[in-house]
Amino acid sequence: MRHILLFAFIFQILPSLAEIQAGNPLTAAADQRIAPVLDKVVAWRRDIHEHPELSNREFRTSALVAEHLQSLGLEVTTGVAHTGVVGILRGQADQPVVALRADMDALPVSEQVDLPFASRAMGLYQGKEVGVMHACGHDNHVAILMGAAEVLAGMREQIPGTIKFIFQPAEEGPPEGEEGGASMMIEQGVLEDVDAIFGLHVGPLPLGMITYRPGQFMASADRFHIVVNGSQTHGAMPWAGIDPVVVGSQIVLGLQTIASRQVDVTLTPSIVTVGRFSAGVRNNIIPDSAELEGTIRTFDEGVRQQIHDRIRRTAASIAESAGATATVTIDRGPPVTANNEALTARMAPTLKRVAMDNMAVESDRITTAEDFGDYQQVIPGLFFFLGVADPDQKAPAPNHSPYFYADERALPVGVRAMTHLALDYLAGP
Ligand SMILES: [Zn+2]
Ligand SMILES: [Zn+2]
Repeated sequence: MRHILLFAFIFQILPSLAEIQAGNPLTAAADQRIAPVLDKVVAWRRDIHEHPELSNREFRTSALVAEHLQSLGLEVTTGVAHTGVVGILRGQADQPVVALRADMDALPVSEQVDLPFASRAMGLYQGKEVGVMHACGHDNHVAILMGAAEVLAGMREQIPGTIKFIFQPAEEGPPEGEEGGASMMIEQGVLEDVDAIFGLHVGPLPLGMITYRPGQFMASADRFHIVVNGSQTHGAMPWAGIDPVVVGSQIVLGLQTIASRQVDVTLTPSIVTVGRFSAGVRNNIIPDSAELEGTIRTFDEGVRQQIHDRIRRTAASIAESAGATATVTIDRGPPVTANNEALTARMAPTLKRVAMDNMAVESDRITTAEDFGDYQQVIPGLFFFLGVADPDQKAPAPNHSPYFYADERALPVGVRAMTHLALDYLAGP
């Protein structure tokens, strides 16, 4: 049944004759090659979905990818940034070089979706045995890029440049104490000689819809940790000590004035959230210390630095006003995912062409983060979202939910998007 549906579906996304005549003849040729690989794309996606692996532990997934790329005759490097795989497809010219990226890791989430290929996998996360699930949909990204590699490898002689397929581990962040993800891939040279990079993410948008945004798209995400040191005393005699709970509470409120009062709100939105506040053991003891942890989201690298400085100043000054001290640690996470404006304008017609019913629309900013931004700090890149919501589902679950579900009828749109972006880019402006 699925088989028939997918096959019927491919005709909905194929271009009209007029489109073929107006556009790049290579993308029309690629479309002829997409239908025959779709069954495999669906099978890969189900297989990867059923066997998810946590960040930096994508052993089975990367072996599957490497074997496939080798079977296509690509130059394959494995073990990049731990479990990453890079495949190079050399066409009839060395230049230009375009990269297509898929992330491979899953999350410590126990799947609640009723699927024949639902995950029952377990894994070790921060010392705890947890359920593992592709709750962010990276299984789709891997299968889509494997399919695009097969389509493009089949037309190697016609390709006017080089295509690099980047299968990246640990997008969700490496385990504590480890390195990994996009930044480590870059350190190990994956962007050498690459002129532009494209990446996609599935999300609970209407099926087959593509959303993107020139410039600031997804937020940077940094973690902060504050320890307030006071002085322990009896809860009935606060003057005999320094209360870190009250100081910590003032810091929580003080931090809220950074986004609202201290940075230019006309420039870009920003968020400072305290997600954890812990202190004390008993009702009548004022504890020695309090701990706060939170996240910083913004869309501008300058504002990002300003917020870091102001968090340090706010915490230290409030603590000092009470005779306490505050130690602030900020761990820099993924940078802003900022789409190169010229590249986005150039590729927008491609996105419109490949989206279902030409539904490619500019998006608002998104306050979640992506380490694709690391690549975009080095070379021009374009990142976009692909809608995978089941049209029959009233309230599709968000990414990272145990109920997250990707309708596989979006897979052909993904394969077509990656294939067309590479071919249109290599054909030149
Ligand atoms: Zn995610
Ligand atoms: Zn993700």
